[in-house]
Amino acid sequence: MKILMIGPQGSGKSTQAKLLAQFLQVPKISTGDIFRKLSKENGEEARSVKDILGQGKLVDDETTAEIVKKRLQQSDTQNGFIFDGYPRNINQVKLFDPGFDKVIYLKTPKEELIRRLVSRSRADDTFEAINTRLDLYFTQTEPLLDYYRQKSSLVEVDGMGDINQIQDEIKKFI
Ligand code: ADP
Repeated sequence: MKILMIGPQGSGKSTQAKLLAQFLQVPKISTGDIFRKLSKENGEEARSVKDILGQGKLVDDETTAEIVKKRLQQSDTQNGFIFDGYPRNINQVKLFDPGFDKVIYLKTPKEELIRRLVSRSRADDTFEAINTRLDLYFTQTEPLLDYYRQKSSLVEVDGMGDINQIQDEIKKFI
C-alpha cells in the first residue's frame, strides 16, 4: 500500500508514519530526513540545502521531485511505502506523483502545533524557521487536501490525543 501522511509541522505525522511503517513492514520515506542527511555532506548542493533548511524554506520542486523519484527506484519500496513530507505543493505532485492509495490527514489545531514545536529541539527548529514552515504549509500544502479529497483518497484523523490511540484510528482506514 502506498500511503501519504499529511499535516502541518507538529501534527505528529512523522511519529505516526514511523509506527505505521513498522506495522506494515514498508519503508517510511521522509524528504525532511533525506534533506537533513544531504545537508551534512560536502559540496555546493549540501551547503545550499543546509541554508534552505535553516530558513525553513522549501528545496526547489525539481530537485525534490528527482530525489523522490530516485528513492522509489530502490527495491525496498516494492510492497509499498509511507511518505512523510512529499508532495508539499501542487507543483511537486505534477512533477512526480507517487500514486498514493490513501492520504491520511492528521488534523491538529494551530495552538497545539505551536506548543509542540517550541518544545522539540531539532537543529532547524528556530522560531523564525517554524513560522516560515507553518506559513508555507497553510499556503502551499493545504491546497493538496482538496486535490486528494477530489480523488477520494483523503481520510481525516484527529491529531489530538494519545499516540497509540491515533495510530489505532489510522489503522482503521488501512
Ligand atoms: P517539518 O515536518 O517540520 O516541516 P520535515 O522534516 O518534513 O519537517 O522537513 C524539513 C525541511 O526539509 C523543510 O523545512 C524543507 O526545507 C525541506 N523539505 C522537506 N520536504 C520537502 C519537499 N517536499 N519539498 C521541498 N522541501 C522539503
